[in-house]
Amino acid sequence: MGRRGAWKPITERLWSKIMPEPNSGCWLWVGSIDKNTGYGHLGKNEYSSALAHRASYECFRGPIPVGLVIDHKCRVKSCVNPDHLEPVTHYENNVRGGVYDAAAKEKKSRTHCRKGHLYEPSNLVPSKSGTRVCRICHRAIAIAFVSRRRVLIKENNYGA
Ligand SMILES: [Zn+2]
Ligand SMILES: [Zn+2]
Repeated sequence: MGRRGAWKPITERLWSKIMPEPNSGCWLWVGSIDKNTGYGHLGKNEYSSALAHRASYECFRGPIPVGLVIDHKCRVKSCVNPDHLEPVTHYENNVRGGVYDAAAKEKKSRTHCRKGHLYEPSNLVPSKSGTRVCRICHRAIAIAFVSRRRVLIKENNYGA
């Protein structure tokens, strides 16, 4: 685990991995970057997170309120400039990132259900929410449910 005293002060470790971008003002993280999330990684440190932008925020601004995530106002995931970071709720962060919008749009643009049945008017179950339900799949699920219930009734002598 290493001795705490042997660690470099966080600011020094942060500074050594930051490359300021003069046009945007972003502080680009030149340390390791998570391939999946695109966020900079600082590794083990005195702060609550190994994520570089979170550690940076805590270092320069103070503790992040519990339950909040750090939003990149500049939309540059590897940026750790505290002026570009803002604690928000997870939901708000996703909305800002357009995640929900994109997912909803993608769903609406689909022409087939997950099993590949065509979404045509005759193959849609009416639904109040506006989401499209494939009639073939819906029926298959209903049949499976009914036969499962039949087996249960038989096994347990319900209603016999
Ligand atoms: Zn930035
Ligand atoms: Zn289907």
